[in-house]
Amino acid sequence: MTFTRGLQSIMFAAASAANPEEACGLLLGLGTDVLFIAAVVNSHRQPERHFRIAPDAAAPVVREAMRLGVDVIGGWHSHPHGPPTLSRDDIAGTPGAGFVQCVVTAESVRAWTVTPPTAVEIAVAFRR
Ligand SMILES: [Zn+2]
Repeated sequence: MTFTRGLQSIMFAAASAANPEEACGLLLGLGTDVLFIAAVVNSHRQPERHFRIAPDAAAPVVREAMRLGVDVIGGWHSHPHGPPTLSRDDIAGTPGAGFVQCVVTAESVRAWTVTPPTAVEIAVAFRR
């Protein structure tokens, strides 16, 4: 999964703005290259510990991806209280097999390919 430093900074800024709640959104791109970051409202009842992207919040992002000619290639959310890894609930709540989930903390962005109940960490690299 590749990002630019600018895309990473958008996730860090959204995570900081949402703190102490978790920020969340979708990753738009092609293949393993993230080209756009979408931030979506966290509609979970306990947003300090969990996140939920409601279908009606995701729908306009999916439409925008289609308009831009890119795919929804994964999701991201922040862990303001750590740890920088997926929780069991994150894995269980993944929408489909092979979906990429990124976890953002103040210091890092890490990614996993998730096929519930398993998650395999994948490399995050930065391109120009
Ligand atoms: Zn999480």
